Amino acid sequence: MSDCPKFVTDATLGKLAKWLRLLGYDTRVFPREAGRELLRLAQAEGRIVLTKRADIRERQFAGIVLLLKQNDVALQLKEVIEKCSLKIEKNKMFGMCLKCNCALEPVEATEVRELVPIYVFEHCQAFNRCPVCRGIFWEGTHQRNSLQFLQKHGII
Ligand SMILES: [Zn+2]
Repeated sequence: MSDCPKFVTDATLGKLAKWLRLLGYDTRVFPREAGRELLRLAQAEGRIVLTKRADIRERQFAGIVLLLKQNDVALQLKEVIEKCSLKIEKNKMFGMCLKCNCALEPVEATEVRELVPIYVFEHCQAFNRCPVCRGIFWEGTHQRNSLQFLQKHGII
C-alpha cells in the first residue's frame, strides 16, 4: 500500500470522509449509492473503497475494498487507520478543506483582515485558504475540539 493512500467512500460515510481529510488523507465521497460506478472511479484514481455495502465486490475490480462494519464514526476511523496502517502525523493534520477535499494554501494575515473576526485576526498568526470555496481557516476551537475527540478515542 502506498505511503499516502487515497480513499473514496460511499454516500453514507460522509462523516468518516471529513475525519480522514482532517488527518490529511485525500478522500472523495461518491454522491450516489455504492456500485459499479464507484468502483470505476476508485480504479481510475487509485483510491481505496470504503463502504458498508457487503455486495459491492466485482470480479474485474483490481483495487482494494474495505468493508466497514462499525456504525460509529470514531470506530470506523479506527478501523480504517488500523487496516490501512495509516500514520497519523500532527503536521499533516488540518491541511485540507473538510468540505472540498483539497489542500489549503497559506495566506498572508494582511489579506484576511477583512475576512475574519477581529479577535481572530489579533490572536492568530497563521491563516490558510481553500482554493476552491475560498474559506479561511486558522488554529482555533474547532481544531482543539477535533484533537480532543481523537485523543478521547485513542486515535492520537
Ligand atoms: Zn473548501
